[in-house]
Amino acid sequence: MALPDVLPDDSPICAIATPAGRGAIGIVRISGRNLGDLDRRLTGRSLPERVATYGPFLDDDGTAIDQGLAIRFAAPRSYTGEDVIELQGHGGPVVQQLILQRALRAGAALGLRQARPGEFTERAWLNDKLDLAQAEAVADLIDASSAQAARSAVRSLSGEFSARIHQLAGGLLELRLLVEATLDFPEEEIEFIQSANALGRLADIEATLEGVLATARQGALLTEGLSVVLAGAPNVGKSSLLNALAGAEIAIVTPIAGTTRDRVSQAITVEGVPLNLIDTAGLRETDDPVERIGIERTWEAIGRADVIVHLVEAGEGGGSRVAATEAAVLARIDAVAPRGAARLTVVNKIDRLGEAPRAAAGEVRLSALTGAGIDLLRTALLDLAGFQPGAEGIFAARERHLEALRETLGHLAAARAHGEAGDLALDLFAEELRLGHQALGRITGEVTADDLLGAIFSRFCIGK
Ligand code: GDP
Repeated sequence: MALPDVLPDDSPICAIATPAGRGAIGIVRISGRNLGDLDRRLTGRSLPERVATYGPFLDDDGTAIDQGLAIRFAAPRSYTGEDVIELQGHGGPVVQQLILQRALRAGAALGLRQARPGEFTERAWLNDKLDLAQAEAVADLIDASSAQAARSAVRSLSGEFSARIHQLAGGLLELRLLVEATLDFPEEEIEFIQSANALGRLADIEATLEGVLATARQGALLTEGLSVVLAGAPNVGKSSLLNALAGAEIAIVTPIAGTTRDRVSQAITVEGVPLNLIDTAGLRETDDPVERIGIERTWEAIGRADVIVHLVEAGEGGGSRVAATEAAVLARIDAVAPRGAARLTVVNKIDRLGEAPRAAAGEVRLSALTGAGIDLLRTALLDLAGFQPGAEGIFAARERHLEALRETLGHLAAARAHGEAGDLALDLFAEELRLGHQALGRITGEVTADDLLGAIFSRFCIGK
């Protein structure tokens, strides 16, 4: 494993691992290479390894702060791979702080300090307890907004995704070894490519990679979801549509960083895929500073949209009745949205014309009021995203993984081009294989830049 250039501060760390607030149980977790007699100082006794021991948690003067279960895990048999002590006390914010502060004092001589977000998991990764894709799956499981997303995260956490990547990397390595062994004998190059069936092996690896990419794309949708902009003139029924869509499947949204519900968007899930619905109703000129912030955030969200839904009224001849200001807003939405964003026209209020709901190329006709056709819209949104409901064996993945997989595919295609060219250049063939192998290694963390690590682990909550 590649270590970061600057080794992280490896002093022992400590944090409240349970959420802030009142709860039945609150856990303070401590991890360090050598925690010495910290267990005795905190509980008054030497804790046996991996046994839950009931007793008091002691303050500096030996009085009890709380009582509960204490567990000691000796390195390397712990979550982090280091010595770990867990104090499972009562889940009140004050008592948890008292335990945390007491632990910090008791461990001061060892250099014990508060943990940064994700630092326990980062240590688990540094100590080879998890690879990078698994560490990311820990965060994805905690942040999962649907049962499907949670299941796919567990699959990645248990190493299913990593195993597919390792299998691919193994095949690539074998091919690279073959090719590089031949590089010293130029006259045998052509013969080698034929006799070792290098191109056949390459094709197998490419096919497997395509399969992994397809599954990973589904996983990334479950993990990261889709951003859907809802645009249209006033009174076409944007709010009604939002409610109709949300009515059936409201996402389990918890107030954690990054997923906090805000005024500009509403989170729902469809078949487990989180949809972030961006309401553009508030996009208009205003002097109100608070409203302006909301508008700015809406434009930012539009800039990251995956799908633009343009809502019009049935029988109004599309947008012909749209006021000039509204047309300007719609044009700007089109300009701000990413190039690759999909477009969908939704014709609302078909109940007024007694029409039946219908979905055709790029258009869904429905009634937000009666709910007729809402299911067609859901299907159309998932279709646009390329999601296959009910697919088996999906593992959680992130955009970062998709990029690495696509980059690998690109290098393999380049290798193939060199291999198929008449004047075979085996060294170029070998170099593309090497680059592809390297891109693949970024997924599990074999080759990883420091800034990427920072970005990954800082997304965790403290104590994980
Ligand atoms: P917004 O301004 O685009 O958010 O539009 P609203 O959702 O507030 O809807 C404007 C009006 O149209 C309200 O009176 C709704 O009840 C009505 N409306 C919305 N959808 C439908 C529909 O499908 N059929 C009918 N008949 N009326 C609708």
